[in-house]
Amino acid sequence: MQVLVDGRSRAEVIAGLCGELGGIAHSTDTRKLRTKSRDRFTENPALRGLLRGRNAEIFIAPRDKDELRTAVAACARHRVPITVRGAGSGQFGQGVPLNGGAVIDVTALTGVIGWHGEHGRRLPTTVRARTGTVVADIDATIRPSGWELRMHPSTAQRATVGGYIAGGHAGIGSCQWGILRDTGNITALEVMTVEEHPRLIELRGRDVNSVHHAYGANGIITEVELPVAPAWEWHELVITFPEFEQAARFSVDICHSDGVLKKVVSPHAHPLPRYFPGLAGLVPDGEAMVLLMAAVQSVTEVEDLVRANGGRIRYRCLEGKGAYGVPLYEFTWGHSLLHYQRHDERLVGLMALYPTTDLYESIVRVHREFADLGPLHVELKRIDGGVSCQGSPVFAFESRAHLAEVTERLQRAGLSVANPHTPVLGAGGMKPWGPKEASFKREFDPYGLLAQGKLDDVVATELRTSTALPNNGWSYRLTG
Ligand SMILES: Cc1cc2nc3c(=O)[nH]c(=O)nc-3n(C[C@H](O)[C@H](O)[C@H](O)COP(=O)(O)OP(=O)(O)OC[C@H]3O[C@@H](n4cnc5c(N)ncnc54)[C@H](O)[C@@H]3O)c2cc1C
Repeated sequence: MQVLVDGRSRAEVIAGLCGELGGIAHSTDTRKLRTKSRDRFTENPALRGLLRGRNAEIFIAPRDKDELRTAVAACARHRVPITVRGAGSGQFGQGVPLNGGAVIDVTALTGVIGWHGEHGRRLPTTVRARTGTVVADIDATIRPSGWELRMHPSTAQRATVGGYIAGGHAGIGSCQWGILRDTGNITALEVMTVEEHPRLIELRGRDVNSVHHAYGANGIITEVELPVAPAWEWHELVITFPEFEQAARFSVDICHSDGVLKKVVSPHAHPLPRYFPGLAGLVPDGEAMVLLMAAVQSVTEVEDLVRANGGRIRYRCLEGKGAYGVPLYEFTWGHSLLHYQRHDERLVGLMALYPTTDLYESIVRVHREFADLGPLHVELKRIDGGVSCQGSPVFAFESRAHLAEVTERLQRAGLSVANPHTPVLGAGGMKPWGPKEASFKREFDPYGLLAQGKLDDVVATELRTSTALPNNGWSYRLTG
């Protein structure tokens, strides 16, 4: 049995930890540990076998920040590795305890706690919520005042706001506002350190990006403050085009039309529309589809752009009122792949980022050059002040070697590729990890207990070898 600290066995360490948790809910039940050690990597054929069986040794569910502090302090004293858990909807295995230890579930730390518009005295600027608050609940709280979050993941109905900041990247609203790490899109984070006496640290300005998308490796997020935007009356539209090139032209044109208010621009090449049973009958066979959310005052301009590109609006309704029974955004972003995998569980993609300079040409080039591999799906987004998109052909997983080949082909086509088939930050390539991130890690997690296996430790090195691709990763204009 592995020895941890003070010559004690791991079982003794966990027993010692349990003894210090008092009334804080916790469990060492094997079934519970198995369930709470999984995230949505289970749907990824490239990760499924590799991460299965990596389980926590104890599950802890604090009710509030004080209980969280007590649990974290006890873990620090016993040197027990910690994996923080929100709703567990990460897709890259970010939420898996790769080196055992404790899974600390923060979903009970909920509530909108600060909201500058609540008394109607001044224009709202930001909303602050506890980490476990479900993203959609934040919008439900502030929308009656005419404001909403600038962006949210397609998992907004389930995902926690802390999990979104720690594990997510962009989403619904990013075609207008940019990605989470674009300056000004995360106002502040409160972070708890992992020490015998945990401290709460408030991060503002550029510092927030050191903790954002770090998979919980350099601090436990306890509160999140985000900027808000006007809550327009959003309409959902299903638009079809005889050719994918027309869908791409429309998608790029609408994103370059800054006066058109939109939230989602999601083009899918034939036959991908067939993989959404909920949209059956709306898309003529053989056509490409764009799923769009636009503000009501922009619908005339949307109609013009659709017409100009030879498309047809097949369906339109108020947000959330579609005949398909879920918000339209649940067919876009990460949800798209989920639907494709329900059609064929072997289907995967890569996180390729397209150049802002010749966006339309790049999309069309990839669509044509990779037709042998699979149909193209991308999500339009702003990033670093330009219009870009992310996505790749959707293809059947064969092997890591095949993923590597496709990665290299996409890079030769001029794209920057991240690897969504690894829980190791460095191998993923979406998160820059520089001196500032490392210094936060040293200060906020001096014993290196957080997110073991996702950074530079023995487990990460081992996993990096088995999950790395020859990807060049993403870079951002502003780092550090
Ligand atoms: C169908 C589907 C669609 C998706 N769509 C999008 C999308 O549109 N945009 C997008 O960006 N992502 C998307 N994702 C992935 C995304 O990361 C999650 O949906 C969501 O943002 C994570 O929230 P969660 O509460 O489930 O976090 P979890 O999965 O529980 O955690 C995510 C990561 O953050 C860490 N973490 C959680 N809470 C904290 C905390 N308080 N402090 C420190 N670390 C913490 C975890 O350890 C883990 O590494 C999608 C995933 C799925 C399955």
